[in-house]
Amino acid sequence: MSAAEKIASIVGAGIAGMSLAFHLARRGWRVRVYEQEYPGFSASGRSAGIIVTIFEEELLRLALESVNFYGTLPDAEGRITKRRAAYFNEKFECLDRLSRIHESLGLDFRYCLSEEDLGVPFETLGHPSAMIETFILDTGWAVNALQSALAGLGVEIANARVEARGGQLVAGGDPLKGVVVLAAGPWTPALLEGLGYNSVVRDRYQLYRCQIASVEGPTPRLVIEDDALDYYLVPVSSSRFNIGDGPNTPIQDPYEGFHYDLEDSYSVLERYAERVPSAWESRLVQAWSAPCITGSDGLPLIDEIDNGLIVFTGLNGAGMSLAPALARLLAESLDSGEWLLPPWSMISGKPRSSEVREPYYIQC
Ligand SMILES: Cc1cc2nc3c(=O)[nH]c(=O)nc-3n(C[C@H](O)[C@H](O)[C@H](O)COP(=O)(O)OP(=O)(O)OC[C@H]3O[C@@H](n4cnc5c(N)ncnc54)[C@H](O)[C@@H]3O)c2cc1C
Repeated sequence: MSAAEKIASIVGAGIAGMSLAFHLARRGWRVRVYEQEYPGFSASGRSAGIIVTIFEEELLRLALESVNFYGTLPDAEGRITKRRAAYFNEKFECLDRLSRIHESLGLDFRYCLSEEDLGVPFETLGHPSAMIETFILDTGWAVNALQSALAGLGVEIANARVEARGGQLVAGGDPLKGVVVLAAGPWTPALLEGLGYNSVVRDRYQLYRCQIASVEGPTPRLVIEDDALDYYLVPVSSSRFNIGDGPNTPIQDPYEGFHYDLEDSYSVLERYAERVPSAWESRLVQAWSAPCITGSDGLPLIDEIDNGLIVFTGLNGAGMSLAPALARLLAESLDSGEWLLPPWSMISGKPRSSEVREPYYIQC
């Protein structure tokens, strides 16, 4: 890695690219970010904003660091809030494991919800359940706040599409300078292939569509993360909530990630209605989606592919939760020359697989 000049070009102004630009600029690096559309154009501007806390300990520590990071951005007051969540899982062992992790990190964890807790009538718990702590991020604010912070640090976000041409990356005909970081989300593999690194990336990642719908109707007081029936729910007001689909729809091209019909969300609402019958009184209002990418084992892809060429992607359905903390580790690595990222993020260590794996939530 040749970081002597402390110059970096970052491809992609999503949460990954912008968090990394922030951490590098704070360490005195001259950074330029290239964005083909506008900051937050893809998944980073469309997420549900849950800071996931149903992680194993190592990832949960990173998520909690990300919460603190968002709290330091301009006008953070009220934009990242601690919330209670109803968590359902098919297995008691998973809850036991999660309770130990949460307690060791000082988060509240309580078994067995009651109807009162949820704030809307529900039939039976049906599955092992608990009340846990989570955090909800105002995603649109986070993208804007990072942009302001970067402007304050003198980081330019150039509106330009980066292309692989003749074995190098160029924007507007000019080669990218310094250490190059591909934080281009689901477009990253195509850039690597354009550079001739096909064998490095083939079968080591999955593209899929992340989708969500806005619903009007009786709204629970709590966030719901339902790993048993595979959906999540975020209350937005007393009569509106967002509901997201757990199962992943595989896609081949990133742009397929932007096509989602409102009607596809009925099956998500049906699953929620199994738990809370008053959901039948609800009305789907709007749906949206974006492409997501994950390593084939469900974990991020952060690696040095070649001298001065870094990949920072594969953040799955949890990039808003993990990117700021992983970006800090990556910035420290680039700055010190000592690789500090966890071994599970290395592309070279990924198993080859053609299935979409479950995200990297609590394992039991
Ligand atoms: C509906 C939905 C709900 C979600 N819910 C949550 C949640 O509750 N909690 C959570 O933690 N995460 C959630 N996620 C996941 C999270 O949004 C992603 O993991 C995260 O945004 C990925 O960030 P990124 O910066 O890696 O990629 P992206 O946001 O995809 O950013 C990549 C950027 O690179 C740019 N780019 C690509 N190619 C080029 C090029 N050649 N030249 C220049 N620019 C380029 C793109 O335009 C894009 O802006 C959700 C995602 C969606 C879609």
